[in-house]
Amino acid sequence: MLPFFQTNIEYLKGIGPKRGEMLKKELHIFTFADLIQHYPFRYQDRSQYNKIRDIVSEENYYQISGTILRLDTVNTGGKPRLVATFTDGKDYLELIWFAGIKWIFPKLQSAEKFIVYGKPSLFKGDFSMIHPEILPLLSDTKIPTGWEPVYHSTEKLKEKYLDSKTLSRYIKLLLEQAEKELQETLPEYLIKSYRLYDKKTAIKKIHFPINKTEIDESRRRLKFEELLYVQLKVLGENLKNKREYSGQVFKNLKPRFMEFYDKHRPFELTNAQKKVIHEIREDLSSGKQMNRLLQGDVGSGKTMVAFLIMLMAVDNNAQACLMAPTETLAFQHFYTLRYYSEKIGVRIHLLTGSTPKKTKQKIVDLLSVGEIDILIGTHALIEDKVSFKNLGLCIIDEQHRFGVAQRSLLWKKNNPPPHVLVMTATPIPRTLAMTLYGDLDCSVINEMPKGRKPIITSHRHETSRNAIYNFIHEELRNGHQCYIVYPLIEESETLDYKHLTEGVEMVKVYFKNIPISVVHGRLKSQEKDFQMSLFVKGESKIMVATNVIEVGVDVPNATIMLIESAERFGLTQLHQLRGRVGRGSSKSYCIMLSGNKLSKEGRERMEILTSTTDGFKIADEDLRMRGPGDVTGTMQSGTMGDLLISDLAQDAIILQEARKVAQQILQNDPKLELPEHACIRQQIIAQKKMNTMNWSRIS
Ligand code: ADP
Ligand code: MG
Repeated sequence: MLPFFQTNIEYLKGIGPKRGEMLKKELHIFTFADLIQHYPFRYQDRSQYNKIRDIVSEENYYQISGTILRLDTVNTGGKPRLVATFTDGKDYLELIWFAGIKWIFPKLQSAEKFIVYGKPSLFKGDFSMIHPEILPLLSDTKIPTGWEPVYHSTEKLKEKYLDSKTLSRYIKLLLEQAEKELQETLPEYLIKSYRLYDKKTAIKKIHFPINKTEIDESRRRLKFEELLYVQLKVLGENLKNKREYSGQVFKNLKPRFMEFYDKHRPFELTNAQKKVIHEIREDLSSGKQMNRLLQGDVGSGKTMVAFLIMLMAVDNNAQACLMAPTETLAFQHFYTLRYYSEKIGVRIHLLTGSTPKKTKQKIVDLLSVGEIDILIGTHALIEDKVSFKNLGLCIIDEQHRFGVAQRSLLWKKNNPPPHVLVMTATPIPRTLAMTLYGDLDCSVINEMPKGRKPIITSHRHETSRNAIYNFIHEELRNGHQCYIVYPLIEESETLDYKHLTEGVEMVKVYFKNIPISVVHGRLKSQEKDFQMSLFVKGESKIMVATNVIEVGVDVPNATIMLIESAERFGLTQLHQLRGRVGRGSSKSYCIMLSGNKLSKEGRERMEILTSTTDGFKIADEDLRMRGPGDVTGTMQSGTMGDLLISDLAQDAIILQEARKVAQQILQNDPKLELPEHACIRQQIIAQKKMNTMNWSRIS
């Protein structure tokens, strides 16, 4: 027999196959467990009443009692609507219905007094309420009191009356049946020392609290539990690697490293770069396999760090590879690092998906006999065919496109496994980094190279296009280069392509006789590389591109980044694009061009970008605006299951607490064998089972 909580949702009384199907499709509620974990996203305090005068914001809900003065059906073009003029005795509020008029009309005539509940809308300076909840006060009306849970539902479900209220009824029913089945998932000593609700209380109270404290406390308990299990998982992985893999020891810094450092280093390293190199050197000589994340904002100089570390491997008779997410970026790294390598006799090659077969074969041959020291490339590097003589170090640039699974493929490339360094410019909010990359040790470059001038960021509309083009002309005359970037969003790729080509035509007309590079996703990668290289060498002056240049390219002479339709880019994307300029010592500019009509979020993004260049601040804002689901989704999925209740933007303190506890648990009892940890062990096994189930649901 299946465990109780894995029972198909159809079998809950009142649901059945049809409604069950809808719940599965719309809310991903497949089992009893899913329903019981469909937590309220908000609660209505129905014991409080407002006056109409209290209404100040479209964001809040208000509950008002009063009478209806007039009822009108208004028919001014468009759809007819029902307008009720409602008063609390002092002020007036229009209640408006666009649908269900037939049904609501008699309801509004059925009583003297009403309780109105809803969110106001602001129209031409006046608040009104559209489709509020309305309760006629009759002698037998049950007046709502206390805190009412509000559950996510969808339009489709609501049409079938599967709204928040119905869900709440089902959950109540399920809770009655589940009483005996709910198992404790945290050890007693943690519940005691952190004064947490036990599991049963938490689950009951999260759905049906009677006061604010119960809401807060049940949330705290469930968040703590959720984050603790995420941390146990990622930290467990980390410990496992450390236990299982010993690492190659790289102690020599001669001859390559020292020769380059003393004679050819193009600039003084920043203190942050030195610190990070030091940390990594400790790892490389420790005898343990390194798994480290290197975070550094765009332009902080990660490439030089990568190169110096690869030299450490080379000086110890090992090979190193550097893997980039795109061909363009791989090419760029190759182009830069070949220049350095040649000076000190280091043999470096490039391998990507578009490397011709013959060349590829040659590279594979050379690699396997150790005639190549450093290999730069895309994920073509981790193909089975590619084998190294002795791969000692692998660096992954721009981490967010490589998942844990790919990383572990690398570990298998050599015996003992190579050291792995993951570099990212995506400023990952600290809380998120801890959760996503808890299995990696972390280094941060928190300092920009000296002499950088701040990038001047502005937001402009179409009307300024001429002025902007004139300004670009001026910069070009001063010998600088310029990027013009168009959005490329997959759903409307054809349309985006059209915008780009039209844009190119416009630029060509305006900047007659000026060499222009054009790079977009439809180009063959050889052509892309060619266009890129023209720009990198300064032979073309303007680079018109879709956001393929989002990551990595490095042309210090470029001083203007013009972003077209900027409102269509996300915050971190904009920040990354901006980071393409301001790399040299000249003053640089990022100009975000947008349509006149911006959504609230669009405008907010422009404001954030113009007000700060701090990548971490921007990442936190991004997390706040989009929610962690979105952010993690685009960065990497699979490390943690979806968080059901925790909000990484807000729960940093609980997360830190949970991490500390997870560390202690794993330290004292790495295999979770102690009797007090039996419940944890069982829960982890149950979660693993659930995950396999989830996978089968997706496909
Ligand atoms: P990112 O961290 O975004 O990959 P890069 O490694 O591409 O940054 O470096 C950005 C620019 O800064 C490059 O032109 C690089 O040569 C330069 N740079 C890196 N470190 C220093 C330094 N310590 N002093 C001066 N310029 C530096
Ligand atoms: Mg880079």
